[in-house]
Amino acid sequence: MTLTERQEYLEGGFTELSCARCDALVRVRKSSLQQTSVQWTTQAAGRCPRKLNALVPTCPDLRDSIERAVKLGTLGVA
Ligand SMILES: [Zn+2]
Repeated sequence: MTLTERQEYLEGGFTELSCARCDALVRVRKSSLQQTSVQWTTQAAGRCPRKLNALVPTCPDLRDSIERAVKLGTLGVA
């Protein structure tokens, strides 16, 4: 576990997780291996240079961070 993978389990099954590259802090919930919900705050969206538009739900680096967190078990699949 690294400092960027903060384990704060929030209401609704969302977990706070930050992008390993841009450090944008978002809330993530996985309802299945294929289904990932990401809640961006305006602060996080302004921070991440790779979140280009609304069609891209998350930046590629954040996606990697999410996948790693799932592998490590810090992000549970609910
Ligand atoms: Zn990012």
